[in-house]
Amino acid sequence: MERIKNAERELTPFFQEIEEICLKNSKKVMDAFRENHLAESHFSSTTGYGYNDIGRDTIEKIYATIFKCEDALVRSQFISGSHALTVTLFALLRPGDILLSISGTPYDTLHEVIGIKENASSLKTFGVSYEEIDLVADDFAYQKIEEVLKEKKIKVIEIQRSKGYSKRKSISLEKVEKVVALVKKISPSTIVMVDNCYCEFVDEKEPTEVGADVVVGSLIKNLGGGITPNGAYVVGKKELIKLVAERLTVPGEGKEVGPSLGMNKLILQGLYMAPSVVMHALKVAILTAKVLENMGYDVEPRAEEKRCDIVQNIIFHDAEKLIKYVQGIQKGSPIDSHSLALPWDMPGYDDPVIMASGSFTQGSSIEFSCDGPIREPYIAYQQGSVTYEYGKLGLYEAIKNLDLFLKEKQ
Ligand SMILES: *Cc1c(COP(=O)(O)O)cnc(C)c1O
Repeated sequence: MERIKNAERELTPFFQEIEEICLKNSKKVMDAFRENHLAESHFSSTTGYGYNDIGRDTIEKIYATIFKCEDALVRSQFISGSHALTVTLFALLRPGDILLSISGTPYDTLHEVIGIKENASSLKTFGVSYEEIDLVADDFAYQKIEEVLKEKKIKVIEIQRSKGYSKRKSISLEKVEKVVALVKKISPSTIVMVDNCYCEFVDEKEPTEVGADVVVGSLIKNLGGGITPNGAYVVGKKELIKLVAERLTVPGEGKEVGPSLGMNKLILQGLYMAPSVVMHALKVAILTAKVLENMGYDVEPRAEEKRCDIVQNIIFHDAEKLIKYVQGIQKGSPIDSHSLALPWDMPGYDDPVIMASGSFTQGSSIEFSCDGPIREPYIAYQQGSVTYEYGKLGLYEAIKNLDLFLKEKQ
């Protein structure tokens, strides 16, 4: 604990900055609840078709208020963030259209959706083509983007802010703002879609406030606050949300259907907790960076760096160290602390992946969790913790496990 305490002492000013952002986002949530007259009656539930679900409709108004945009779709019928991204892409793209990613290759689960990896149900099989432009030095390739937009008609541009399993940095809102301005100047009709997973409430603003047309994220990450048990959101321009709703449900029915099945209270309570939970997750990420930095490991981002998401990387340059660390995180988790995390061949991934996730909600990564593909340079991707204290205790277990291994090796 000594190492953790020492690191903590150095971090006070950074924690204060995060606390201020948390207060601003808490106010944003509170104001949205009040402005939309949230009432106890909104916790009621619908079944079947889900007509006239006033709670569901109020939740969507609240999301639109928070994201300062025209409309929102917040549904438990979305299985996950990947599903919401899939539905959004299929809703916005038509045969002959081009999808352009300007943040390099998208998140792994989208490869079969787009057709980067063969799948009989991909966008590619519907005649939607795909192009990508890599980031340059962790920023957009503005020149290249301008050239492509002048040369071809691009229907949708996708921007993924968080790094996924890549080695790049996550993308700040300032950069998103700059690139959206460029896109809109050259091609006003191109739809800018942002994958906002892990980024909500990390900053004071959201991508819809800097010009993005449609923004997508998961409810088992930041905005679910560790409480919402599944679902995802899509927010943005009204006409686009209508297209997404009609792809999720039925053309002609759209947002009018979809039973909330008792989820309204959990979605609202999760959102209510989210600014604070994101703050705790950020503090744990920064503490982890500092402690491991002090122990001599490479980390990304560095403890003092400005953050765009809640993900902390530790670059171990050694498979065994990565495995021991992740196993230690599992030991420090509230659920399944007694089981040993082992690398396995996960569907959709090229290398074996080791995952520690002792969470209440399956796969929830706003809860304390850590994973990493077993490949060079052996990076752990750690995120979450609904409270700072539990994250700190989990970190303690992880470094203890690492110490034990290093001592045995001597
Ligand atoms: C987690 C994540 C997704 C997918 O979300 P799921 O809810 O796990 O399906 C997509 N993009 C990024 C950048 C993510 O971090």
